[in-house]
Amino acid sequence: MMKREELLYEGKAKKVYATDDPNLVLVDYKDDATAFNGLKKGSIQGKGAINNRITNHLMQLLEKQGIPTHFETELSERETLVKKVTIVPLEVIVRNIAAGSLAARLGLPEGTKLQKTVLEFCYKDDELGDPMVNSYHIAAMGWATDDELKLISDYSLRINDILTSYLKELGIELIDFKLEFGKTSGGTIVLADEISPDTCRFWDSQTHEKLDKDRFRRDMGGVEDAYHEIMKRLMGE
Ligand code: ADP
Ligand code: UDP
Repeated sequence: MMKREELLYEGKAKKVYATDDPNLVLVDYKDDATAFNGLKKGSIQGKGAINNRITNHLMQLLEKQGIPTHFETELSERETLVKKVTIVPLEVIVRNIAAGSLAARLGLPEGTKLQKTVLEFCYKDDELGDPMVNSYHIAAMGWATDDELKLISDYSLRINDILTSYLKELGIELIDFKLEFGKTSGGTIVLADEISPDTCRFWDSQTHEKLDKDRFRRDMGGVEDAYHEIMKRLMGE
């Protein structure tokens, strides 16, 4: 049995622990919810367990389709063993439909279909509010090499294709989502962090009802029900 050793990092949604294997860390998902760079704080009952299971389900689906991920073993309701990586300090945002900050920035009504998938990169830095950056900033700051950024971009678009068609069958429209990548001790780039209703916009295909963290961000109510509904559609429970 994998031993949970010292706490390496406590973030807004997860805790990361060392284990007795230097190449593996244990991720523990919390019910805490934050939005607007930590300004809005709350809790979503049962979220940790749901996000753990949804993330692991989707990461295994992606692995089967040839996307390398950090996933190793689900240990409990909230805990998963993953490969320890050095996180590339970028949030990769993939967008199919305009919503959130893109809708605001370009003055588009939410729900406007984009003619082509949009990739955005933000520098992961809470103090700076995760500013948007481009490939020149990324190379100039040494956050990723041009080859690494190309690979990350290719993986992100492939992940979008796989998830969009998988979710479509379940009556879920994938509006946009955020990915993080990391480098293993062997130097391989893998998908890391999570894929959940905290990090994706999911809309019901028929009613366009929001089934994600926007219900928390925008005080819409029915937050727990939305997370449960996504888990039920993905995993049948
Ligand atoms: P935040 O840091 O934004 O508050 P979380 O609460 O989700 O976010 O914290 C989890 C942290 O663990 C994030 O900083 C994430 O980049 C990092 N992380 C995710 N996967 C791995 C991994 N496989 N190895 C090391 N760190 C990881
Ligand atoms: N996102 C995320 N973490 C962040 C910022 C964004 O998971 O720190 C996700 C968010 O859930 C959405 C997508 O990335 O699915 C695009 O978010 P957007 O830029 O529209 O920002 P927001 O409206 O969340 O401020």
